This record gives sequence, structure tokens and C-alpha cells, in this order.
Amino acid sequence: MTTFVDRVALHVAAGNGGHGCASVHREKFKPLGGPDGGNGGRGGDVVLVVDRDVTTLLDYHHSPHRKATNGRPGEGGNRSGKDGDDLVLPVPDGTVVQAADGTVLADLVGEGTRYVAAQGGRGGLGNAALASARRKAPGFALLGEPGHSEDITLELKTVADVALVGYPSAGKSSLISVLSAAKPKIADYPFTTLVPHLGVVTAGATVYTVADVPGLIPGASQGRGLGLEFLRHVERCSVLVHVLDTAALESDRDPLSDLDVIEEELAQYGGLEGRPRVVVLNKIDVPDGRDLAAMVRPDLEARGYRVFEVSAVAHSGLAPLSYALAELVSRARAARPKEENTRVVIRPKAVDESGFTVVREDDDLFRVRGEKPERWVRQTDFNNDEAVGYLADRLARLGVEEELLKAGAHAGDGVAIGPEDNAVVFDWEPTVLAGAEMLGRRGEDHRLAEPRPAAQRRRDRQAERDEADQDFDSFGGPF
Ligand code: GDP
Ligand code: MG
Repeated sequence: MTTFVDRVALHVAAGNGGHGCASVHREKFKPLGGPDGGNGGRGGDVVLVVDRDVTTLLDYHHSPHRKATNGRPGEGGNRSGKDGDDLVLPVPDGTVVQAADGTVLADLVGEGTRYVAAQGGRGGLGNAALASARRKAPGFALLGEPGHSEDITLELKTVADVALVGYPSAGKSSLISVLSAAKPKIADYPFTTLVPHLGVVTAGATVYTVADVPGLIPGASQGRGLGLEFLRHVERCSVLVHVLDTAALESDRDPLSDLDVIEEELAQYGGLEGRPRVVVLNKIDVPDGRDLAAMVRPDLEARGYRVFEVSAVAHSGLAPLSYALAELVSRARAARPKEENTRVVIRPKAVDESGFTVVREDDDLFRVRGEKPERWVRQTDFNNDEAVGYLADRLARLGVEEELLKAGAHAGDGVAIGPEDNAVVFDWEPTVLAGAEMLGRRGEDHRLAEPRPAAQRRRDRQAERDEADQDFDSFGGPF
């Protein structure tokens, strides 16, 4: 037996960025050429895309871990690594994406709507791209960044035009199967419909969907049975159909009190008051049922309901019902604002990229937080002194050292970059503001360096300032 699934926890991991390559061009009988290490490829994203052919989240229930491919590392000869492939996950129309803490990240409605659930890591720059006027032959490259990984919850609120509500075994599944081409499972016990089904009904020029969802029982709005799951499904329907059983065998049931019970649950759940409703009296092929239907009809009409007497089994009374529903659906659609068909949902960037903070956490421990410093740390190969020096230069240029000094840091104090659970801690050795010129320019290869005339030195200093303005983290330019 399958279980009812309309809410799944999903772990998505984007691909890691490929590392940049540090390489120096070599040719037989020629002096050393310039740096020619290529950039790493970008990691693939994990993207959710609405696909109308998908109607349940069952697939994700079975395999809840999904990962996109990594970017390839760069190579010598200026060869860039290949980007990782995006992993595209098809989801049903109406899937709501939530973060682990329950905040809604996206509400995916409309064929083709896309949401990047996890962003691939940037590729690291190779040493060719890191070369500059003053750093002619960098002996290092930047690391690719890890891809984002997220724990998300997908929740499906079926976007059907018509929802069939009613007691278990009233005949909802049967009705949808004869109204439409859908063939849901039918059996003679409560909670038959364990997976929501959508039926597509064509009546004249109108095509609409009917949701066939688990049955309601008293207490459903308090979470009894599958009630809440059920109610989530009807939330967005534009028409509600009460399917009433005229041939129920239980002595304490009749169509009118069944209707009251279901209405009570809908009222408890709330928000459905304005939804148009019609009443279907089902099973009139049973003689007692036909009599009971005739008996309750005036009462129902007196309450303002349009009433349809049908038999799902005998296929009788179906056409007037499906045309009446088509009319209600068309009216609801006309009243709704038009949806664009291919909405792209992008999570807004929460942080200001350029900012950073320095907080004194202890006598001799300072913490630096910020998008750039933290990213730069992730890109740094700490086994390579030159790469570490490059990191120090970038931090100094961003103004981190200045802020550390202002905050009262001294040489030898600890500087942690990143959040508490994932920080890199340095012993601080002030570089630029220690008074002296930077000791030894980083990234220079003495085999390539020549004495610099004054004009060249001026140009280099300008280049250095330009570099401070820009921020070459990744190919594709500064950001
Ligand atoms: P649901 O729980 O509301 O989806 O009800 P089902 O469609 O699963 O039907 C429950 C039972 O009622 C099944 O045994 C059906 O064969 C039966 N049933 C449904 N519609 C009719 C009908 O019009 N006439 C008769 N005699 N039985 C019906
Ligand atoms: Mg059913």
C-alpha cells in the first residue's frame, strides 16, 4: 500500500565549483612562459521546475537526497574546467517550498516556473586570471567554492479547479473516474484515496481539473485522520462539490447531516466561506438512494444549493453536472488576475555583499563576518603561502585590517573569519598598516620581475588601486 504524500523533506546539494589551476606555460627550448592555469567550472544548481505532468511528490519521498554535479578543475594551457550540470527537479503545479524553519521560500504556480533551490559553487580562478601588472606569475590559484546545500520541504496544495468533498465512500473517486479520463483506485473502505488524483474534465469549450482527495471525517480540521492533508488540497480550488451518499448503511447518517458535518469541518479550517458550492446526491441507482435523494432535495435547495442527482456507477446525471461545474470554473477564472506563465522565482540576496563587521569577542579574539571575507577564505588554499598572502592583501584592501586596528586588535591576536561553527582563525600579523611598506610584493616571480622604473611603479600602484575597487573573485568579471 502506498502512503499519502503531499509533504516531503528534501535535501538538495548544488555542485561544488572546480578549483582554479596554477600552472606556468612551458615549451621546449623556450624560457618560462606566463601563467596559464585555467579557471575551475561552476557547480551545477539544483532547480525546481513546475511540470504539469507531475502530480505527486512521491518520487521525492522515495529518494529525498538530490545533488547536482561539480564543476571540473581548470587545467594548464588556459583550459577552463567544464561547468557542472544543473539538476532539474520537476514538481507539480502548486508546490510550496519551505526552508527548514518553515519560512516559505517559493510558491510555484504555473507551468515552467523555476526556483533555484541550491546554488552551485563558483569556480576558482586559475593563476592566469589572477596575474596582474604587479603579480605577474602567481604561484597559486583560488579554490572552487562548495555548492550550497539546503534542507527544504515541498508541500503540494493541488491546484485543481474543483474539489470533491464528502465522507469516505461517498463515491468521490468513482465520480472523478467517470467524469474524466483519470482512473483512481477505488475500494470499499475509508481512506481509499491515499494519493491525490487529478482528473481532467472537458465540458464544451471548458477544460478543468477535479481533485479527488482523501475523505473527511469529523475532527479533520483538528488533524484527525487525513483531514488536514485533505483540507490543504481544497484550499485553492475555485468550486467545492459536496458528494453525498444516498445509500449509506450507517443508521446515524443521512445526506443532510453528512453535509452539516463536512461544512463544520470546512468552517473550522476557515478561508473557504466564499467558495461556490454545489451538491451531488450520488448512488441514485440504488432504489433506496433514489427515494432518499428525492426526499432531501427540497431541503438542500431551500438552503440555496444547486442539486444534482447522479449515479457514478450507472453513469447517469453526469452531463448536467459537468457543464454546471464548467460554468462555475469559467466564472472563477475570469475573476482571477492573469498569471504569467513562466515566472522565475529567485531568492533575494539577504546580505549586502560589500559589507563586513568586526566584533571583539574576547580580549584577544576578533570575529570578522561578511559575504566577501568569508567567501575569500573559502577560496584560499591554506597550504600555499602565496595564496594566504593574497588573502591577507584582499582583506587589507577591503579595510578589514583598518577595522581590526580600530577595534583594538594587536599583532598576535586571534582573528576568526566566518560564523562560530565554521570559522578560520588566524594569528593576526598586520601588513599594510603596520607602518612599514608591505614586505615583499606577493605573487612576484623573480625570474620574471624586472627593475621597475618610476613610471612603471606609478602604473603598478594605479593597477593596485583598480584591483582594490574591483574584486576579481571569479571569471565573468568583478562583483
Ligand atoms: P470515495 O471514498 O468517496 O472516493 O468513494 P469511492 O468512489 O471509493 O466509492 C466507494 C464505494 O461506493 C465503492 O464501492 C463504489 O463502487 C461505490 N459507489 C460509488 N458510486 C456509486 C454509485 O453511484 N452507485 C453505487 N451503487 N455505488 C457507488
Ligand atoms: Mg476516494
